[in-house]
Amino acid sequence: MERGAGIQRLFEEVGGGHGFVPVSAGFRPFKEFKVQWQRNGRSAAFQVTDYLRSADQDLLREFADRLFERIEAKGKHEIYTANLKEWLRSRSFVENAQPVYLRRSQNLAFSDEGTTYDLSESYERLKALGLVRDHDGLFLTWTKRPNHQRVGYCSALMRVIAISSVMDSERVPELVTDYVLYHELLHMEDGLSFSNSHHGSGFRQRERRFPGWEEAERSLRALAKEQGTRTGRAKP
Ligand SMILES: [Zn+2]
Repeated sequence: MERGAGIQRLFEEVGGGHGFVPVSAGFRPFKEFKVQWQRNGRSAAFQVTDYLRSADQDLLREFADRLFERIEAKGKHEIYTANLKEWLRSRSFVENAQPVYLRRSQNLAFSDEGTTYDLSESYERLKALGLVRDHDGLFLTWTKRPNHQRVGYCSALMRVIAISSVMDSERVPELVTDYVLYHELLHMEDGLSFSNSHHGSGFRQRERRFPGWEEAERSLRALAKEQGTRTGRAKP
Protein backbone atom coordinates (compact mmCIF):
# COMPACT_ATOMS: atom_id res chain seq x y z
CA MET A 1 0.00 0.00 0.00
CA GLU A 2 1.28 3.45 -0.86
CA ARG A 3 1.79 5.38 2.34
CA GLY A 4 0.39 8.66 1.04
CA ALA A 5 -2.89 6.93 0.18
CA GLY A 6 -2.67 5.15 3.53
CA ILE A 7 -2.77 8.35 5.55
CA GLN A 8 -5.74 9.68 3.56
CA ARG A 9 -7.72 6.51 4.25
CA LEU A 10 -6.67 6.37 7.89
CA PHE A 11 -7.67 9.98 8.64
CA GLU A 12 -10.96 9.49 6.79
CA GLU A 13 -11.69 6.47 8.95
CA VAL A 14 -10.70 8.05 12.26
CA GLY A 15 -12.40 11.34 11.35
CA GLY A 16 -15.57 9.48 10.42
CA GLY A 17 -15.64 8.05 13.93
CA HIS A 18 -15.64 11.62 15.24
CA GLY A 19 -18.35 12.68 12.81
CA PHE A 20 -16.05 14.52 10.41
CA VAL A 21 -16.69 14.32 6.70
CA PRO A 22 -15.11 14.97 4.30
CA VAL A 23 -11.59 14.59 5.62
CA SER A 24 -8.39 14.95 3.68
CA ALA A 25 -4.86 14.23 4.86
CA GLY A 26 -1.42 14.04 3.33
CA PHE A 27 2.23 14.11 4.29
CA ARG A 28 4.15 17.36 3.80
CA PRO A 29 7.92 17.92 3.88
CA PHE A 30 7.92 20.59 6.60
CA LYS A 31 11.35 21.27 8.03
CA GLU A 32 10.01 21.17 11.58
CA PHE A 33 7.90 18.36 12.98
CA LYS A 34 4.38 19.74 12.83
CA VAL A 35 0.83 19.23 11.69
CA GLN A 36 -1.39 21.91 10.22
CA TRP A 37 -5.12 21.66 9.81
CA GLN A 38 -8.04 23.61 8.51
CA ARG A 39 -11.48 22.88 9.87
CA ASN A 40 -14.69 24.02 8.28
CA GLY A 41 -17.80 22.81 10.07
CA ARG A 42 -17.54 19.01 10.02
CA SER A 43 -14.91 18.89 7.32
CA ALA A 44 -11.19 18.95 8.01
CA ALA A 45 -7.95 18.93 6.03
CA PHE A 46 -4.62 17.87 7.53
CA GLN A 47 -1.06 18.44 6.46
CA VAL A 48 1.05 16.04 8.45
CA THR A 49 4.82 16.16 8.87
CA ASP A 50 6.41 13.53 6.66
CA TYR A 51 8.70 12.57 9.55
CA LEU A 52 5.69 10.45 10.52
CA ARG A 53 5.79 8.60 7.20
CA SER A 54 7.68 5.70 8.76
CA ALA A 55 5.42 5.46 11.82
CA ASP A 56 3.27 2.36 11.91
CA GLN A 57 -0.48 2.46 11.35
CA ASP A 58 -1.39 2.05 15.03
CA LEU A 59 0.69 5.06 16.02
CA LEU A 60 -0.79 7.15 13.22
CA ARG A 61 -4.29 6.05 14.19
CA GLU A 62 -3.75 7.11 17.82
CA PHE A 63 -2.28 10.39 16.66
CA ALA A 64 -5.18 11.06 14.28
CA ASP A 65 -7.62 10.27 17.08
CA ARG A 66 -5.96 12.84 19.35
CA LEU A 67 -5.96 15.41 16.57
CA PHE A 68 -9.69 15.05 16.06
CA GLU A 69 -10.25 15.32 19.82
CA ARG A 70 -8.14 18.44 19.80
CA ILE A 71 -9.99 20.12 16.95
CA GLU A 72 -13.28 19.29 18.63
CA ALA A 73 -11.74 20.95 21.71
CA LYS A 74 -12.69 18.00 23.88
CA GLY A 75 -10.41 18.49 26.86
CA LYS A 76 -6.85 19.55 26.54
CA HIS A 77 -4.89 16.35 26.49
CA GLU A 78 -1.69 16.22 24.60
CA ILE A 79 -1.77 15.26 20.97
CA TYR A 80 1.37 13.19 21.44
CA THR A 81 0.45 9.86 22.95
CA ALA A 82 2.83 7.89 25.16
CA ASN A 83 3.44 5.38 22.36
CA LEU A 84 4.17 8.14 19.88
CA LYS A 85 6.60 9.80 22.28
CA GLU A 86 8.37 6.53 22.83
CA TRP A 87 8.78 6.09 19.10
CA LEU A 88 9.99 9.70 18.66
CA ARG A 89 12.66 9.03 21.28
CA SER A 90 13.84 5.86 19.61
CA ARG A 91 17.13 5.50 17.84
CA SER A 92 15.42 4.39 14.63
CA PHE A 93 13.34 7.59 14.46
CA VAL A 94 16.40 9.80 14.92
CA GLU A 95 18.49 7.81 12.45
CA ASN A 96 15.86 8.38 9.79
CA ALA A 97 14.72 11.86 10.59
CA GLN A 98 17.94 13.64 11.56
CA PRO A 99 19.61 13.50 8.10
CA VAL A 100 16.40 14.75 6.48
CA TYR A 101 16.10 17.55 9.03
CA LEU A 102 19.73 18.56 8.42
CA ARG A 103 19.18 18.64 4.64
CA ARG A 104 16.21 20.93 5.19
CA SER A 105 18.16 23.29 7.44
CA GLN A 106 19.35 26.37 5.60
CA ASN A 107 22.03 27.79 7.81
CA LEU A 108 24.26 25.06 9.17
CA ALA A 109 28.02 24.84 8.71
CA PHE A 110 27.87 21.05 9.18
CA SER A 111 30.97 21.34 11.29
CA ASP A 112 31.71 21.65 14.99
CA GLU A 113 35.13 23.13 14.22
CA GLY A 114 34.99 26.87 14.02
CA THR A 115 37.79 29.29 13.27
CA THR A 116 38.24 30.12 16.97
CA TYR A 117 36.39 27.45 18.91
CA ASP A 118 35.74 23.77 18.53
CA LEU A 119 32.27 22.88 19.83
CA SER A 120 33.21 19.28 20.55
CA GLU A 121 35.97 20.60 22.82
CA SER A 122 33.41 22.81 24.58
CA TYR A 123 31.21 19.76 24.96
CA GLU A 124 34.10 17.75 26.42
CA ARG A 125 34.86 20.52 28.91
CA LEU A 126 31.21 20.56 30.04
CA LYS A 127 31.23 16.79 30.43
CA ALA A 128 34.50 16.88 32.36
CA LEU A 129 32.91 19.37 34.76
CA GLY A 130 30.07 16.91 35.28
CA LEU A 131 27.54 19.45 34.02
CA VAL A 132 26.15 17.43 31.12
CA ARG A 133 25.97 13.84 30.04
CA ASP A 134 26.80 12.16 26.78
CA HIS A 135 24.01 12.25 24.17
CA ASP A 136 23.96 9.42 21.71
CA GLY A 137 23.61 10.63 18.14
CA LEU A 138 23.87 14.33 18.99
CA PHE A 139 24.72 16.49 15.95
CA LEU A 140 26.67 19.56 16.98
CA THR A 141 27.38 22.32 14.49
CA TRP A 142 28.13 25.98 13.99
CA THR A 143 25.78 28.01 11.84
CA LYS A 144 27.04 28.94 8.39
CA ARG A 145 26.16 32.62 8.74
CA PRO A 146 26.06 34.46 12.04
CA ASN A 147 22.59 34.46 13.54
CA HIS A 148 22.24 37.61 15.60
CA GLN A 149 18.71 36.91 16.79
CA ARG A 150 19.46 33.54 18.29
CA VAL A 151 22.87 32.49 19.53
CA GLY A 152 21.96 28.88 20.14
CA TYR A 153 19.36 26.47 18.85
CA CYS A 154 18.37 23.02 20.04
CA SER A 155 16.03 20.44 18.57
CA ALA A 156 15.78 17.73 21.20
CA LEU A 157 13.53 15.79 18.83
CA MET A 158 16.12 15.73 16.03
CA ARG A 159 19.07 15.74 18.44
CA VAL A 160 20.63 18.74 16.75
CA ILE A 161 22.32 21.70 18.42
CA ALA A 162 23.45 24.65 16.34
CA ILE A 163 25.47 27.50 17.81
CA SER A 164 25.56 30.83 16.00
CA SER A 165 28.94 31.62 14.45
CA VAL A 166 28.64 34.94 16.29
CA MET A 167 30.08 32.99 19.23
CA ASP A 168 33.02 31.71 17.18
CA SER A 169 35.13 34.79 17.72
CA GLU A 170 38.20 35.78 19.68
CA ARG A 171 36.17 38.68 20.98
CA VAL A 172 33.88 36.24 22.76
CA PRO A 173 35.52 34.57 25.79
CA GLU A 174 35.67 30.79 25.62
CA LEU A 175 33.63 30.60 28.80
CA VAL A 176 30.73 32.40 27.13
CA THR A 177 30.66 30.07 24.14
CA ASP A 178 30.77 27.10 26.53
CA TYR A 179 27.86 28.62 28.46
CA VAL A 180 25.73 29.03 25.34
CA LEU A 181 26.36 25.40 24.45
CA TYR A 182 25.58 24.42 28.05
CA HIS A 183 22.23 26.21 27.82
CA GLU A 184 21.30 24.27 24.67
CA LEU A 185 22.49 21.00 26.20
CA LEU A 186 20.12 21.58 29.11
CA HIS A 187 17.29 21.69 26.57
CA MET A 188 18.63 18.45 25.10
CA GLU A 189 18.59 16.88 28.58
CA ASP A 190 15.00 18.00 29.04
CA GLY A 191 14.20 16.09 25.89
CA LEU A 192 10.74 16.07 24.40
CA SER A 193 8.86 18.21 26.86
CA PHE A 194 6.06 19.17 24.42
CA SER A 195 5.39 22.07 26.71
CA ASN A 196 5.92 25.78 26.38
CA SER A 197 7.79 26.42 29.60
CA HIS A 198 11.34 26.04 28.36
CA HIS A 199 12.96 28.44 30.77
CA GLY A 200 11.22 27.76 34.05
CA SER A 201 12.81 28.34 37.45
CA GLY A 202 14.23 24.80 37.52
CA PHE A 203 15.93 25.48 34.22
CA ARG A 204 17.42 28.74 35.49
CA GLN A 205 18.69 26.99 38.60
CA ARG A 206 20.47 24.38 36.52
CA GLU A 207 21.96 27.12 34.36
CA ARG A 208 23.55 28.53 37.48
CA ARG A 209 25.49 25.37 38.08
CA PHE A 210 27.82 26.61 35.35
CA PRO A 211 30.92 28.09 37.02
CA GLY A 212 31.09 31.69 35.87
CA TRP A 213 27.44 31.91 34.76
CA GLU A 214 27.21 35.51 36.01
CA GLU A 215 30.15 36.61 33.92
CA ALA A 216 28.76 34.68 30.94
CA GLU A 217 25.34 36.30 31.32
CA ARG A 218 26.97 39.72 31.55
CA SER A 219 28.97 39.10 28.37
CA LEU A 220 25.87 37.88 26.54
CA ARG A 221 23.97 40.98 27.55
CA ALA A 222 26.83 43.17 26.32
CA LEU A 223 26.93 41.24 23.05
CA ALA A 224 23.18 41.61 22.68
CA LYS A 225 23.39 45.35 23.19
CA GLU A 226 26.13 45.60 20.61
CA GLN A 227 24.58 43.38 17.97
CA GLY A 228 20.93 43.08 18.76
CA THR A 229 21.49 39.47 19.83
CA ARG A 230 19.22 37.58 22.17
CA THR A 231 20.22 34.59 24.21
CA GLY A 232 19.23 31.13 23.05
CA ARG A 233 15.73 29.82 22.65
CA ALA A 234 14.75 26.28 21.90
CA LYS A 235 12.02 24.09 20.58
CA PRO A 236 11.41 20.59 21.80
ZN1 LIG B 1 16.80 28.18 25.85
